[in-house]
Order: sequence, then structure tokens, then C-alpha cells
Amino acid sequence: MQYDGDGPAFNNIKTDQEINDFFTTYFKDILEHIPDLVEQYKTNPAPPLGTVRCSPWNAYDKSLLIGDSAHAIVPFYGQGMNASFEDVVVFDKLIDEHENWSDAFKAFSTNRKPDADAIADLALDNFVEMRDSVANPNFQLKRQIEMRLEAAFAKAEYQSKYSLVTFPQEGISYREAMLKGRAQDKAILWLLENDHIKVEDDLNDLLKSIQQKTAEVLWLRG
Ligand SMILES: Cc1cc2nc3c(=O)[nH]c(=O)nc-3n(C[C@H](O)[C@H](O)[C@H](O)COP(=O)(O)OP(=O)(O)OC[C@H]3O[C@@H](n4cnc5c(N)ncnc54)[C@H](O)[C@@H]3O)c2cc1C
Repeated sequence: MQYDGDGPAFNNIKTDQEINDFFTTYFKDILEHIPDLVEQYKTNPAPPLGTVRCSPWNAYDKSLLIGDSAHAIVPFYGQGMNASFEDVVVFDKLIDEHENWSDAFKAFSTNRKPDADAIADLALDNFVEMRDSVANPNFQLKRQIEMRLEAAFAKAEYQSKYSLVTFPQEGISYREAMLKGRAQDKAILWLLENDHIKVEDDLNDLLKSIQQKTAEVLWLRG
């Protein structure tokens, strides 16, 4: 549901009656579970969604930001908690690799930032994709091709951008997933738009065309 605008929108729900009417119309089954729904709705306003981008994350050799405090992201990839857990794994490794806290803090702040920026950008990408692209015919064909390839080939041979981010092979970082995933998206859409591939093509031919075009896009982007 939208926040603003004509028709059903959170910002148009002002009175107790409007709150009741909205939930009775769209979420009727929740009413019995939240008897004080009107009160709860009025005291828990919808907060803004935001991205935290800051640097450095370490200060005075004594403190380090990790998790949402360093890199809160919008929720459209469902990766905020995963990224925060991954921080812990990365930092744990850096503690072993460095002589003192100060160096481990600096290394974490420097090394992890590109991945935090990448998942922040990916989460915003996914918002735009869900808002603008899901009804686009070529986007739908791209998804069909991706689903065919993912069902037929191992992860090492093909993973869509979504899968690269959400179910990566070990060692694939958010930044690597973003670069490869974006290049793949661009490659498949270009191949479709220029009639070089079709959903029903032979799977091996599809994979080869997509891998070649993706490599080209990655090379062009340096
Ligand atoms: C509605 C919602 C759905 C989400 N869904 C997903 C999902 O599906 N998948 C996913 O991966 N992530 C999801 N996330 C994101 C995930 O919850 C966060 O990324 C994750 O909790 C971040 O962990 P954190 O420890 O960095 O911060 P937090 O979990 O926010 O922990 C910070 C803690 O610090 C405490 N605190 C704050 N200020 C102070 C202070 N001054 N003194 C002492 N303590 C303080 C807070 O009370 C809190 O307990 C979701 C988040 C929300 C809000």
C-alpha cells in the first residue's frame, strides 16, 4: 500500500472510523488478534525507511560501529540482519589476523565498507525493480529464463542477481554479487531486446550467450 496519493494510502487514514474501515476492508482476519487496533495504529506511526552511509566506523582506537549502526539499509532485500551477522564473522577473522584492536578496527572499517555500500545499493535496486519492472514484458521473460537456468545448472554456472545476493556460494561478497548480478541483468535484457535469445531456447545455448554477454558488460565496466 502506498503512503500518499489518491485512494487507499496510509496518509489518508486519519480518524478512528477510517482506521477501522481500512483494516476491515483489506486485513479483516487481523482484527480478532489486535483488539486495541485503533489505539496501536495511532501510537505506532509508520517510520521513514532510510539508509545509513557513514565512514569511518572506528574512532579513537576504542570504538567500532557494526550492524545497523554502521550500515542500516532499506528492507527490500531482507538482508539487514544477514549483513550484521556477516559483520561479526568478518570481524572475528580480522581479530585473528591483527595484533591489536586498533588495527582490527581500521581493517574492518576499510574492508567491509564496499560490501555494506553494495547491499545498501542492491536493496534500493530491488525497491525500484519491484515498483517499476515487474509488469514489464522483457523483465518477465528475463525472470522465466533465470528460473529455467537456475533449475538446470549448478550455482557455479548460473545464479540470478537475487540468488547471488540471497543464496551465494561461499566467498561471494555483496559487492561481487552486485557487480555480477547487475551485469547479468543488463546482458539478458539486451539479448532479449535485440532478439538474440528466447525463453524457449536450448538451455546450453542460453547459458553460453548470457555468460558471454555478461563478461562483455563486466569488461566494459572495467
Ligand atoms: C520490520 C523489520 C523487518 C526486518 N526484516 C529483516 C529480514 O527479513 N531479514 C534481515 O536480514 N533483516 C531484517 N531486518 C533488519 C534487521 O532487523 C536489522 O538489520 C538487525 O536487527 C540489525 O542488528 P543490530 O544488532 O545492528 O541492530 P539492532 O537489532 O537494532 O540492535 C541494536 C540494539 O541496541 C539497543 N540500543 C539502542 N540505543 C541504545 C543505547 N543508547 N544504549 C544501549 N542500547 C541501545 C537497541 O535497543 C537494540 O536492542 C528487519 C528490520 C525490521 C525493522
